Amino acid sequence: MKTYSILLLAIFCFSTQQASALQWPHLEPKKIGPHTYVIEHGPHDEDPKVSHGFHNNPGFVVTDDGVVVIDTGSSYEIGKMILRKIKTVTSKPITHIFTTHFHGDHWLSNQALVEAYPDALTVAHPELITLLKNGEDKFWLDRFAERLGDEAFAGTKAVIPNTPAENKAYQIGGVTFQVVLFDQAHTTTDLMVYVEDEGVLFTGDIVNNEHFSFMGHGNFKGAYEATQKALTFNANHVVVGHGKSGNQDLIKTFGAIYQKLQAIIRKFYEQDMMDYEMKPKVIAEFEEYKQWSGFDNQIGPYISQIVLELEKESF
Ligand SMILES: [Zn+2]
Repeated sequence: MKTYSILLLAIFCFSTQQASALQWPHLEPKKIGPHTYVIEHGPHDEDPKVSHGFHNNPGFVVTDDGVVVIDTGSSYEIGKMILRKIKTVTSKPITHIFTTHFHGDHWLSNQALVEAYPDALTVAHPELITLLKNGEDKFWLDRFAERLGDEAFAGTKAVIPNTPAENKAYQIGGVTFQVVLFDQAHTTTDLMVYVEDEGVLFTGDIVNNEHFSFMGHGNFKGAYEATQKALTFNANHVVVGHGKSGNQDLIKTFGAIYQKLQAIIRKFYEQDMMDYEMKPKVIAEFEEYKQWSGFDNQIGPYISQIVLELEKESF
C-alpha cells in the first residue's frame, strides 16, 4: 500500500512538472547547412496560445568543440525549449551564444542556456552590453513581462552578455564565424554572423521576411548600408530576424524597401509636406507590402523617423 502511494505521488509530481513547462510541439530544428540548424517560428501573428511569445529564429551550429547558438528568445521558458530542441540534434555542450541586437526577444532566453552551460561565452555588440548594464535590461524585462503575461514569462531574468564582440572571424571547433558589427542599422547594437563553409548568414532584424520591425532605435540609411554589406557574403541561406528564412532575395527585398522609403519620403519632404500629410501617399506607394505583419503599426513611425533623419542631414 505504502509503495503504491509513493508511486502515485511520484507520478503526480512528474506530471505536474511536465504540465508546468510550456510546449512548442510544432517546432523542430530545421537543417539549413551541413552543421547548421534553425528553430524557425511560424507566422509572426500566430495565436499567442501557440507561440507563447516565441516569434524569432534561434539558430545553432554543431562544431567539433560544442554548439554555437545565434540568438535565443524572449523568456526563460523559450530558453528551456531551445535547450530541449538542441538536445534532439546533439548532446554537445553550448560553448557560445551570439546575440544579434538588444531587443528583448533575441536575448532574454539566454538565462536558461547559461544556467545549463555556465562556461558558455555570451557574445554581443559592445554597445549592447553598455546599454543593458545601464538599465535597458530592466526596460526589456518589463516590456516582455507585460507582452507575454505571467505564465509565459515566469522566472525570466536578464543575463547580460559577458563578452564584447569584435569585427573578426572567430574560429570555433573547426568552423569559421565571420562577425560584422554595425554602428546604427536596426539598432545601435547590431551584428551579423556569417557561418563560412556552411554558407549561412544570420542577419538579425536588419532583414525580415514579410514582417516590419520597430525601427525606433535604428537608422534607415544605416539599415540600407547593412543590407548591402550582407549581400557581399553571397550566402546560400539567410536566417532573418522574423519570418521564414530563405535566400539572398530576402536581403535584396529589404534593401529595396529601406531605399524606397527614404527616396519617397525625401520627395514629399522636399515638397514641404508634413509627415501626417504624406502618410496616405507613402502607404499608396507600398501597396504590395500592406499585408505584411507590422505594416499598419510601423509605417507612421517610419515616416516620422525618416523625416527626422532628413532634418538632421540638412543641418
Ligand atoms: Zn529587433
